[in-house]
Amino acid sequence: MSDTIEIDRPLPQPITPEARPYWDGARDGKLMIPRCQACGRPFMYPRVACPFCASRDIAWIQASGRGRLHSFAIAHQILNKAFKVKTPVVLAMVELDEGPRLLTNLVNVAPDPTVLKCDIPVEVVFEKLTDQVTLPMFQPAAGATAGAR
Ligand SMILES: [Zn+2]
Repeated sequence: MSDTIEIDRPLPQPITPEARPYWDGARDGKLMIPRCQACGRPFMYPRVACPFCASRDIAWIQASGRGRLHSFAIAHQILNKAFKVKTPVVLAMVELDEGPRLLTNLVNVAPDPTVLKCDIPVEVVFEKLTDQVTLPMFQPAAGATAGAR
């Protein structure tokens, strides 16, 4: 867990009831994802009904926090003035080991397209913004080859 960082982006507000366990988990350093009790499949983003079978019987599980970099883009400019995030920043689609994909940032890595590769193993890290909001982000997993040639 890192120190509180400067609030450099709009905070999620209001946090909806469907997503509350996700944010509560992040605050405690856990990556929580919803899982359908009817068909057994985990999914992201949080919502009231399962995207696979439409069941509303949703429970939450703690994800391993491990996954792979499915896709990424390096943003050199953020046109939305509400974001003060220093660029370049790596926007990442991470596929969790549990299956769901989530949109996040890849951090603790050079924002360099010659270094970053799709499919590298990544792991979750938590960036605390406020006492209420902690953002799950991802970094290359220990031993991953990002940064190596
Ligand atoms: Zn389902």
